[in-house]
Amino acid sequence: MLTSADELASVVALSAEERAGLDASAKLFRIGLTPYYASLMDPQHASCPIRMQAIPRAAEANIRDEELRDPLGEDTHNPAPSVIHKYPDRCLFLVVDRCGIYCRHCNRRRLVGGDEPPTTADLEAGLEYIAKTKRIRDVLMSGGDPLLLSTRRLDYLLGRLRAIPHVETIRIGTRLPVVCPMRIDGELCAALAKHHPLFINTHFNHAVELTPEARAGCERLVDAGVPVGNQTVLLRGINSSVRSLRALMRALLRVRVKPYYLFQGDTVLGTDHLRTPVEDAMRLYEGLRGWMTGMAVPMLVADAPGGGGKVPLVPSYIDSLDETTVVLRTYRGDRIAYPQPRERDCSVPYDEIYFANEPADDDREGSR
Ligand code: SF4
Repeated sequence: MLTSADELASVVALSAEERAGLDASAKLFRIGLTPYYASLMDPQHASCPIRMQAIPRAAEANIRDEELRDPLGEDTHNPAPSVIHKYPDRCLFLVVDRCGIYCRHCNRRRLVGGDEPPTTADLEAGLEYIAKTKRIRDVLMSGGDPLLLSTRRLDYLLGRLRAIPHVETIRIGTRLPVVCPMRIDGELCAALAKHHPLFINTHFNHAVELTPEARAGCERLVDAGVPVGNQTVLLRGINSSVRSLRALMRALLRVRVKPYYLFQGDTVLGTDHLRTPVEDAMRLYEGLRGWMTGMAVPMLVADAPGGGGKVPLVPSYIDSLDETTVVLRTYRGDRIAYPQPRERDCSVPYDEIYFANEPADDDREGSR
């Protein structure tokens, strides 16, 4: 890992702003990136998307009143060590506190890059909580970056989760396909393929990150039967243009990675300079929707501060609505009337037959 101003200066001509950010960094958030990711930096231009994600700016030290240490309210949804359980049927399982890059926009900066990795006892307590909480259908293994665990350790933890009967799907959140694609080797793919249905959510923010190595890494995962989705963070001055977002989404689809979320920046400490006004975010979204295949269009969401969860930020495509007619606004701005159906009863009689022996979601044992 490159972790100091001197190491970075050996790769790029640091700007005054970057030097100021690096000088202040000890009080901000750990610095670190893989040599591979550093090799993608534009040595001359400080506006390079890789540099702006990896090297702090002086603005990171300007903490605003509205910024939060824990913007998603995770610390109040922490029923067991290493588990964050905020939504009804799914939880986070934080298995490691290290990353392959310390992203300057990270919303979990309070937890990652420190010196207190989850202990074996923490992970056991987390597994115990998941095993006894039967409403959990989906576990998102995160951290830190779970793919930094040895393949053997990861395989073991996935096996423990897979052995819990009510855990239907497992997801892994990782930036290693972006910052260390060589980690996605045959041994790892074979280990992951043992635990289907297993999904990977990765985190590309700019088309420049989709190098031949990164594309090959993603394709190795998909070839192993692992569906890969991408979560992009909308970052002002890094990817906050229609051109940049379209190029990224198209590049992802070409390697069979599905754009999943486009996140409005969270209100985490020291990131005001990276956040995009919501009205601009929605304008950018309108530059995607309809102009490219729906497969390439992620859902634009904001994570509500304090633990409210993800809220879709959807520009209105409805001009007016009544019981007879909806006036739709198309992606080109045309107004077209859509006639409502005359019958309005939406009940599904066959539900009573098909789900006759299945308890309602909230009736699962342990759901309260
Ligand atoms: S890889 Fe993820 S958890 Fe790690 S610093 Fe980046 S955004 Fe945060």
